[in-house]
Amino acid sequence: MTEIPSEPIQNTNTEIGNYLDNILNYYNHELLDTPLKTRCLIVLNPKVGKDGLFIPKKWTDGDSGSIHEIQVNPKCLEQEIVLHSVIARNLIFAWQFENSNFTRVAYLNAEGVKLMEDAGLPPTSTGEPGGDKIGQGKTYYIAKEGKFAGLFNSYKGITCKYKPAPKNERLSKAKVYGSKYKCECGNYADSKSGSSYICGICKINKNKEVFMKEEKKEKPISKPVKIL
Ligand SMILES: [Zn+2]
Repeated sequence: MTEIPSEPIQNTNTEIGNYLDNILNYYNHELLDTPLKTRCLIVLNPKVGKDGLFIPKKWTDGDSGSIHEIQVNPKCLEQEIVLHSVIARNLIFAWQFENSNFTRVAYLNAEGVKLMEDAGLPPTSTGEPGGDKIGQGKTYYIAKEGKFAGLFNSYKGITCKYKPAPKNERLSKAKVYGSKYKCECGNYADSKSGSSYICGICKINKNKEVFMKEEKKEKPISKPVKIL
């Protein structure tokens, strides 16, 4: 077996992990009424529907107890204030879970609305002020003069140089994933992006030329967090 060098040359995971832990600890102590008793593990997940998600007690250390999971869409690393707000927002869910009245994952109840408003992250269904606040999968915006914005401006923790590369520096999605075309009849085809395909099944069964539609594989964040 090859020995692992004591001075790691690949320390990207450590650097990103330290950066995320720094943010987590900061808002855990400065934003919440009382710090969480349970640790949280931040998992970068490009498939998380919203910008982030809190899942209680998803992990164990195999010994003394459970650890919560906070999923963060890696796109949030593109804008530091958004990343901070996603972590802060999900810490509020975690606080609710531990201390009071948590309903279920991604569901904001009346108490949660009040906690978020007090934190300067008012909930909204539209991404703009107003809109429905209570319910499943609500988003929020960052209030310019709110508590969170003040804390963000005072943050002196480590920063992070890593973020997803801009689109023009990445391989095209078709190169990475291939792409799938789907017909109205349910027939699939794997193919290169940018071409058009006629469904062979429809041609045989219905003697009809039907163009297949390309399926998008990467979902964008539905309502990006704004500073208002
Ligand atoms: Zn077809």
